[in-house]
Amino acid sequence: MAGEPDAHCLFCKIVAGEVPATTVLETETTVAFRDINPQAPTHVLVIPRAHYPNAASLATGAPALAADVLATAGAVAEQEGVEDSGYRIVLNTGSGAGQTVFHVHAHVLAGRGLEWPPG
Ligand code: AMP
Ligand code: ZN
Repeated sequence: MAGEPDAHCLFCKIVAGEVPATTVLETETTVAFRDINPQAPTHVLVIPRAHYPNAASLATGAPALAADVLATAGAVAEQEGVEDSGYRIVLNTGSGAGQTVFHVHAHVLAGRGLEWPPG
């Protein structure tokens, strides 16, 4: 069921503490941790504790939680000292767009030039 933990999901396991992660910020509803394969000097993933496969299902099923993810992304940017220099929030959706973990996660990227349009 939407929002319930998925026993096979890597990020549900990180939420449960079963897989280690370098956590940078935690709230009641979200967790932010460093990406294991960083693509920029700051590369943090922000996830809801509840399992939703992608951004649209999160926004439809739990709109307040979608807002929590964005608010945590902003707090991470502030904590990382990149709020003024700028940062990018990316939500890859679907394997064709590069999504490999089907527990919604916002990438917070900063600390280098970020091209537009993105690759
Ligand atoms: P995406 O390709 O948008 O689904 O993003 C998945 C991200 O999760 C990738 O950037 C991976 O490097 C990252 N990742 C995979 N496993 C871990 C892990 N155990 N801890 C932290 N980040 C991870
Ligand atoms: Zn999950």
